[in-house]
Amino acid sequence: MGKSSKDKRDLYYRKAKEEGYRARSAYKLLQLNDNFHFLDDPSLKRVVDLCAAPGSWSQVLSRKLFEGSDQQDRRIVAVDLQTMSPIDHVTTLQADITHPRTLQRILQLFGDEPADLVISDGAPDVTGLHDLDEYVQQQLVMSALQLACCVLKPKGSFIAKVFRGRDIDLLYSQLACLFTHVTCAKPRSSRSTSLEAFVVCQGYQPPADWTPKLDPSQSVQQFFQHCLPNGKHIAPFMACGSLESFDSDATYTSTCSTDPIATGDKHKPSLNPVQQPTNPPYKQALLLKRQGRLSRHVR
Ligand code: SAM
Repeated sequence: MGKSSKDKRDLYYRKAKEEGYRARSAYKLLQLNDNFHFLDDPSLKRVVDLCAAPGSWSQVLSRKLFEGSDQQDRRIVAVDLQTMSPIDHVTTLQADITHPRTLQRILQLFGDEPADLVISDGAPDVTGLHDLDEYVQQQLVMSALQLACCVLKPKGSFIAKVFRGRDIDLLYSQLACLFTHVTCAKPRSSRSTSLEAFVVCQGYQPPADWTPKLDPSQSVQQFFQHCLPNGKHIAPFMACGSLESFDSDATYTSTCSTDPIATGDKHKPSLNPVQQPTNPPYKQALLLKRQGRLSRHVR
């Protein structure tokens, strides 16, 4: 999260920097929790944060699970393809969630004990080809679900980002076979112009005759083939976050205390990022530009 004019337009973006979160996504998790309270359960011990970089969801987990109490037996594991700067009380793993070895590494960190909660905010790099992007996103959700099925304890919860494309009802019906409650939730901090939403799946209860086991030679489809249906199911929809919270699509100019114009301070400076990216792809380009060696191809 860098420094830009978005500071003035996107209140969640600025609020994240003020409150020390590495990304505005933190408010999506907080608003989901306001409605579903999955982070308020005092018996919550082991949590997996999939696709976690730069780490704002892990920061929320760390604050919720550890602030104000010395909870030695609690454990948070955060996984991402990218390196993550350290976060208090969080063990970070640089790994691919679609690789079977990642499951083993998570289970090792939990001492082979099951997790209470798996959350995933995974998003692949978009190509701009909508069908392809939707397909790859769906594959990522299925990989997160596969991992969750192998690591969750009975009655555990799974929260994952989805895009409400054409085939979303199939995903809902598959989730409904594995969890007693499945809701599609849209936090107010998620732009209403985006298809993004979150499936909140509670009460993990896999079919009695199915034992989830990761086999590296099997595809995700083969893993689920004996337990998931092909029919459709409609999940209830819920908007999350109170009506007083900021609308992520609105432009605030006069009523918000964090808005420079509202506070009468037109020169209120843009805030620095909470955490600089560890190895951003633009690093090389900046270096070349400083050295005057960045040339642009002209057709
Ligand atoms: N929840 C994060 C936060 O609050 O800071 C933001 C997550 S960001 C929207 C999506 C992340 O998914 C990216 O960091 C990307 O590297 C990660 N990702 C995509 N595919 C992945 C994969 N196969 N394995 C692990 N991470 C993956």
